[in-house]
Amino acid sequence: MKFNTKLIHGNFNIDYTGATNAPIYLSNAYAHKSAENLEDIFTGKTMGYAYTRISNPTVISFERRMASIEDGLSATSAASGMSAIYLAIMNVLEPGNEIIASCGLYGGSYTLIRNLRSFGIKVKFLEELNKESLELAINENTRLVFAETIGNPKLNVLDIEPVSKICKLHKIILMIDSTMTTPYLIKPLQHGADVVIHSTSKYINGTSNSIGGIIIDGGGSKYSDSKYSNFEPYVKRFGNMSFTAKLKDTIGRDIGPAMSPFSAFLNLTGVETLALRMKEHCKNTLMVARYLESNKKISEVNYPGLESSKYHDLIRKYYKNEAGGILTFRLGSKEKAFAFLNRLKLILNLTNIGDTKSIIIHPSSTICSNNTEEEKMQMGVYDDLLRLSVGIEDVEDIIGDMEQALENV
Ligand SMILES: *Cc1c(COP(=O)(O)O)cnc(C)c1O
Repeated sequence: MKFNTKLIHGNFNIDYTGATNAPIYLSNAYAHKSAENLEDIFTGKTMGYAYTRISNPTVISFERRMASIEDGLSATSAASGMSAIYLAIMNVLEPGNEIIASCGLYGGSYTLIRNLRSFGIKVKFLEELNKESLELAINENTRLVFAETIGNPKLNVLDIEPVSKICKLHKIILMIDSTMTTPYLIKPLQHGADVVIHSTSKYINGTSNSIGGIIIDGGGSKYSDSKYSNFEPYVKRFGNMSFTAKLKDTIGRDIGPAMSPFSAFLNLTGVETLALRMKEHCKNTLMVARYLESNKKISEVNYPGLESSKYHDLIRKYYKNEAGGILTFRLGSKEKAFAFLNRLKLILNLTNIGDTKSIIIHPSSTICSNNTEEEKMQMGVYDDLLRLSVGIEDVEDIIGDMEQALENV
């Protein structure tokens, strides 16, 4: 199957009813005819359902769909993007280990990784994550590199292949948050990533009607290296599925942030139109970026899809020359940024991205208000910066709203 077909049919088996959508199994637990059968499920000897915190048929349908469209081996969902990131990272790291992360991260991910220090994990943030800076930062304790394909809201674009080559050489797990780009724009596993994460709350769901996260496992042999001794029993039993096996058997079960079956159903419905939506998001965003670039009241426009962007070559190389639905721009002062926000009529001022609706926010006073001034500078979050998630309305209406709001700023 090709990509668009997989979005709709990937890994789906129609059941005995003939239903064309995965049914919503709102059941916490599953009865079994024999004690032997339930024992086999608990001990992993057979596939089956015991308890919805651990697995649920609707949730598994969504996980299988996501594994299919990312070309992964398997997937594990979570109640939110944040819990997915936490589970994935803590599935690998132990006290004494080191993680290297890009500074161009979602604010919540930045603080999550920063806070790992209290677990005895050493954290190194790199202002520019590239081949050279990574080589310098790696040592014998490094286990994980974490980055976003396109950083939210820094909009730095990862040159993934040189980075994944270094990780391969040193047998370090490369974990990529691809929320901003989705498998429509890039499949990080094909470029050497080991694990891909999405906040499904954004483009995967598409209409912002449920919070969720997903971790897609690309398999691979790194976990059999002696430095991942915590994976040893799973490598022995599950081979290249050891990342998922350990995740589902340890931290996933221990913490238990399960995706609800209802959310899984909504995400399955949403993901079918991912390609159609992304095409429109990318097209509209480029037009809005060009409009802003031509407006004298805007001091800076960041959109990697613009020919003027220093990341434009990477967009052509890895992203089919489309750069997603998010841009940022600067208005000169916080006062001007707020005045602009307060005059908008169509574009909504709220904290979210990836909705069909156009959405705007002032990151410094909201999503990054937990970060220090120094961190904000590293993340590219200035006091006059606004982040716009361009929706799939008619672009004339989006630009028209911005134009009327800019008039008196
Ligand atoms: C929103 C977001 C998250 C967090 O996801 P939630 O579903 O809100 O928990 C993580 N990474 C990126 C890039 C995001 O945009």
